[in-house]
Amino acid sequence: MKFNSSLKDIKIYEAGKPIELVVREFGIDPKAVVKLASNENPKGCSPKVAKAISQNAHKAYLYPDDSFYELKDALSKRFSVESSNIIIGAGSDQVLEFISRALLSSNDTVLMSKVTFAMYEIYAKQMEAKIIRTSSYQHRVNEFIEAYNKHNPKIIYLCTPNNPTGDGITKEDVFKIIDAVGSDTLVVIDGAYMEYASAKDKAYEITPNDILDRENIIYLGTFSKAYGLGGMRIGYGIANSKLIKELYKIRPPFNITTLSLIGAIEACKDKEFVRESIELHQREIKRYEEFAKEMGFSYIDSYTNFITYLFPYNLNSTTISDALFKEGVIIRNLASYGMNAIRVTVGTGEQNSRFFEVFRKVAN
Ligand SMILES: *Cc1c(COP(=O)(O)O)cnc(C)c1O
Repeated sequence: MKFNSSLKDIKIYEAGKPIELVVREFGIDPKAVVKLASNENPKGCSPKVAKAISQNAHKAYLYPDDSFYELKDALSKRFSVESSNIIIGAGSDQVLEFISRALLSSNDTVLMSKVTFAMYEIYAKQMEAKIIRTSSYQHRVNEFIEAYNKHNPKIIYLCTPNNPTGDGITKEDVFKIIDAVGSDTLVVIDGAYMEYASAKDKAYEITPNDILDRENIIYLGTFSKAYGLGGMRIGYGIANSKLIKELYKIRPPFNITTLSLIGAIEACKDKEFVRESIELHQREIKRYEEFAKEMGFSYIDSYTNFITYLFPYNLNSTTISDALFKEGVIIRNLASYGMNAIRVTVGTGEQNSRFFEVFRKVAN
């Protein structure tokens, strides 16, 4: 069978390893496995959300309200935008797919950072678009503007804060890039970790209503990280309503589930849960910074719910990751991004203590 030629050089997305795999491979008690690999919220989800989902479980047979009226209403209040500015996706991942399919074809170019979220490339390649990357793993304004001028990309991805490196771009710098770009280029601001960045430093906060007056910018957010709903698959895009209308042409009906919708609506009401999650994170990430200093390696100052450790030559990220894995501690090795580094989701106090303990053991 002959598959679409665009699939030829797509590498299948490698998701964080699931707990079940460690249990199967090494016979470790599932309760003893510490998963710090997928940037999930270590507090879980809001108990109010869990309750709403279980109380409504019998509605599984119903299609969701396809207008997503109540969820859009909650988001429009949270961000001071109109419902017509919002599109809901099965994770913001799905909104990325809509964007790619709405804009790209085989003669187009997409610009992104050297090291960034893998799905930008995968969706672009599906549309046979060409990928251009800046030369630093951090988002540097000048590199983006130079590359824009040289390649005239159809889409520019600004992942701020960036996964898997954790660094962010200030609002001032984001706008320097936006101002340098013509109206035929879409700028995607992926704010999957924005709740953490804005809690750390307001200079890094991008809010969707900053960008609505322009037709070539979209902001993406998700319930998967600070809201603790990764397993429910809900994300959103916020943009000028003209752009949203075009993306709606790609969206399949009922693209999130009835129970995801109920969970997300409830999650919007529980602001306290998000606040507590961020407080826990801010306390615990300090321990990771101290641990790095103690062990003598560096880290990237993080604006996200994870930290990226940069190893010296005498520590190999693959060796360390494999050894941690055998002990039931799952983290993300960044060797496939060309970095001798690991990405660790900041967990609960107990999970983090376990990480430090096992790391000390395997790094010796
Ligand atoms: C987690 C993440 C997303 C989207 O996650 P969904 O679960 O699909 O909403 C998007 N971008 C980045 C950079 C992420 O880390």
